[in-house]
Amino acid sequence: MRTSEFISKLFFPRKCPFCGRVLRAGAEYICAACADTVFMYTRADALPHEALEKVLRLYVPLRYTGAAKDAMLRFKFGGERWIFEPFARLLHRYLAVNGGYADVDLITCVPISANRFAGRGYNQSELVARRLSELSGIPFRALLVRRTGTGSFTSSENYAGRAAEKRFLYGADAPELKALRVLLVDDIFTTGSTLNECAGILLEHGAGYVNAACMMSGRQDIYDVSREESA
Ligand SMILES: [Zn+2]
Repeated sequence: MRTSEFISKLFFPRKCPFCGRVLRAGAEYICAACADTVFMYTRADALPHEALEKVLRLYVPLRYTGAAKDAMLRFKFGGERWIFEPFARLLHRYLAVNGGYADVDLITCVPISANRFAGRGYNQSELVARRLSELSGIPFRALLVRRTGTGSFTSSENYAGRAAEKRFLYGADAPELKALRVLLVDDIFTTGSTLNECAGILLEHGAGYVNAACMMSGRQDIYDVSREESA
């Protein structure tokens, strides 16, 4: 271990993002207790998902509930930027094990608006996507832009209005994709409208296909409850 690394670990011990316990040596990014509870088991027949007609394959390792949901809220709204690292490592492992990097040429992410970026200081999905790029060796490129004045919608707003509004644009300096196969990273899979809209734009600009990777989802229809109960 380099001295700087040693000092950094001495003063900033690595914590489990889900329960906050200091990780023991050898535990890379999650404690053993949480590793038993936060993963979900995606149903094989749920993919590709009917809500995602523009997305070929979807990868989601965590359920948006309990400790995982709490960690996501702290990551997105509590300023706990550091959580990108354990999240990226969890997603990386999930992608690697499930073939999520196979036949992928480029990694990109769902963008947030300039206003939100200014307030938060980071785009949570971009931090994870860039880390996945480093871990996998697949290049990252920011391809999409979120229009200003189109922030998050509350669940009470109607879906039709949400779907009709164009919230994303292709980046002015982004290259045509010329059949490149893209992995699109987002934080939470909910209605699928964000992933669909972004994937549709990537396809219009020449993507061969678009796969999507999200940290977590609260949807009941994509995970295999029987496997979870028997695990
Ligand atoms: Zn834990």
